[in-house]
Amino acid sequence: MTARILLLGGITEALAIARRLGPQHVYSLAGIGRVPQDLQCQVRVGGFGGAEGLASYLREAGITLLIDATHPYAAQISRNAATAARSAGVPCWALRRPAWQAQAGDDWREVEDWAGLIEALKPFRRPLFTLGREPLQHLDEIPSEQFWTLRALEACPGNEGCEVIGARGPFHIEDERALFQRRSIDVLISKNSGSVATEPKLEVARELGVPVLILKRPVLPDVDRTFHSLSDLATALDL
Ligand code: NAP
Repeated sequence: MTARILLLGGITEALAIARRLGPQHVYSLAGIGRVPQDLQCQVRVGGFGGAEGLASYLREAGITLLIDATHPYAAQISRNAATAARSAGVPCWALRRPAWQAQAGDDWREVEDWAGLIEALKPFRRPLFTLGREPLQHLDEIPSEQFWTLRALEACPGNEGCEVIGARGPFHIEDERALFQRRSIDVLISKNSGSVATEPKLEVARELGVPVLILKRPVLPDVDRTFHSLSDLATALDL
């Protein structure tokens, strides 16, 4: 049987793998970011309809290997992938980026969820949020003594207590330093994505003595094989 891969994308490394896949393979995107137009493999955009929908797709499309290369905080699709692969009898591999580790000089405080984050934010006045769009749902909860800077992929209207700036990585340390200084940032809020492209903000926080509130990583399901780097996955796929 000819191998046919379904690659669930969401991180830079997934696109790098997709660029090496031939036309029998499928690269799947949720549809919230840019969709590449220059790939040899097929590109599918949009959800499958939960684990059941994904299992049906695996069977109907004759997929022989499912690869989960989604973001470490995209826990739902990772859970769906593991469940669907088991149900369809297809092996499931995952590319899981190692988490960033605190270094000397870092003041990192892990928070469990949004409620924990709001509590941990109380002593601060000028937070920089780098969690994507989720904080947009909480603009009405901003305490009067705080001014939030919220960085997302696209700029959009904020309110009197918040400005939303749009920017896409990779980010450079000079620009991150200028952002922190211009806006008098006194705390950084981040996921622990482990991405090289967004790491400079952590270097600046360390340099300026700014604490970092880190949203805890979700627990992801066990799969048949787990890779921690693009090169290890590419080698296993013989790409
Ligand atoms: P999520 O909560 O785990 O997934 C929500 C739903 O989106 C899934 O149930 C699935 O819909 C669909 N979906 C997600 N990834 C998909 C893919 N690669 N192909 C087809 N459908 C997909 O994910 P999320 O946190 O909303 O993130 C959405 C996408 O953005 C993910 O692919 C993720 O890798 C990427 N991303 C997320 C973050 C983050 O911080 N969460 C950051 C950067 C990139 P159905 O149930 O209908 O199949």
